[in-house]
Amino acid sequence: MNANSPTSINLARLLHEGGSTEADGIIERQIDLGSETIPLQGHAPWRVSVTSVSSEGGQEFWMSGEIAGNAVMECRRCLTPTTTPVRAHFQNLLRYQPGLEGIEVLEEDDEEIFLFGHPNLDLAPFLSEAFALEVPITVLCKEDCKGLCPVCGANRNETDCGHIEQKPTKLGNELDKLLSEL
Ligand SMILES: [Zn+2]
Ligand SMILES: [Zn+2]
Repeated sequence: MNANSPTSINLARLLHEGGSTEADGIIERQIDLGSETIPLQGHAPWRVSVTSVSSEGGQEFWMSGEIAGNAVMECRRCLTPTTTPVRAHFQNLLRYQPGLEGIEVLEEDDEEIFLFGHPNLDLAPFLSEAFALEVPITVLCKEDCKGLCPVCGANRNETDCGHIEQKPTKLGNELDKLLSEL
């Protein structure tokens, strides 16, 4: 694996001759989803292979890939950064459409086809989306995380601030119920 490898795969040869090709690399620091990012501990290795659908070459390809890494998330009770392993596999049907900017998705016969317009295909959107889909919605730093003190905000895994929980009220109970469902 090459740390400086681009996150792309060149399909020029496949467009002319068919066959298959492979690329691999690593994503460092974070998974970029455009509007948000998922921080990584360490780096996330990925591997993608692309095969022509037709043996004579042509415009359609099967892409299959995998990416694995450790996502850093906040514990939902105490907010401590917590790493959680993520492993994603994906498979997509691609179609070359010269002149197209970026990547577009086409629905055809209940199948999603990803249209791309440049033989040097940017893999980052595929890798990021597949990774993001496998990230859990919430994590706990440990099964029995005691969370934050509702009075002073101290991390009760680390300190015993001595605060006693308030007597539960009807509103408090409902709030607890809501929070536990988050
Ligand atoms: Zn925690
Ligand atoms: Zn406290």
